[in-house]
Amino acid sequence: MTEKVLLLGGTAEARRLAEALTAEGVDVLSSLAGRTADPVLPPGEVRIGGFGGAEGLADWLRAHPVRALVDATHPFAEAMTAHAAEAAAATGTPVLRLQRPGWREQPGDDWRWVDSLEAAASAVQGFAHVFLTTGRMGLGAFAELTQEVLVRSVDPPEPPLPPRTTVVLERGPFTVDDELALMREHAVDVVVTKDSGSHLTEAKLTAARELGIPVVVVRRPPLPAGVPVVETVEAALAWLGD
Ligand code: NAP
Repeated sequence: MTEKVLLLGGTAEARRLAEALTAEGVDVLSSLAGRTADPVLPPGEVRIGGFGGAEGLADWLRAHPVRALVDATHPFAEAMTAHAAEAAAATGTPVLRLQRPGWREQPGDDWRWVDSLEAAASAVQGFAHVFLTTGRMGLGAFAELTQEVLVRSVDPPEPPLPPRTTVVLERGPFTVDDELALMREHAVDVVVTKDSGSHLTEAKLTAARELGIPVVVVRRPPLPAGVPVVETVEAALAWLGD
């Protein structure tokens, strides 16, 4: 069997793992969904675009056998993670989930945990200036909001959007000072985030704490049963080395 590793990416961790593996001379194929117009590409071979569901990925794995499949997609890439588990089981491919830990509430935080973007939209009722940092996908859940809404994303979001939306196009990382300035400029009184756990985007949480404003945090979807999970690139390297 080939020594190639198929790495499902789209995250900073996936990029770091691709860097570490290629530095060790391991043959890596990184797969990206193709959502970002101008992605930061990892070293090694890269393919872009979906596989066609769990069955499509299983067919792909039969046609291109790999030593292992590492699912290092975003904690909220629920469909891809489910497909990876299913296709790996169907083809007997060893599979690992690499997912960074979630964020932890700290003293001074006022976090309101919810299970979905729809529940987040309900949780911000009564606030005047909402800062949405959940990314450009799924913003339709907030389309009915009538207050001022600040949206930040890497690529322009598509309608439907709330009627009073201001869009800021920026790619992290952001500093606490950046976040404080942006939140003050827009008089933000509530922040909405997914529990991505990324240190590249956690400055908004520190800024919200300093400003004493609440954060609505969308809980991660559950992981598929039976797939081993690691939280760091180093642990993924160790698993691959076994
Ligand atoms: P998703 O809902 O789980 O995936 C939807 C479909 O996109 C999948 O069924 C698959 O299509 C395709 N896909 C997703 N990731 C892929 C990959 N790495 N390689 C090839 N195809 C992929 O995922 P999503 O939330 O749209 O996220 C898409 C990508 O953006 C992921 O790579 C993720 O790491 C990254 N990302 C997501 C978020 C987020 O908040 N969800 C944030 C930052 C980055 P087929 O069924 O056709 O195979």
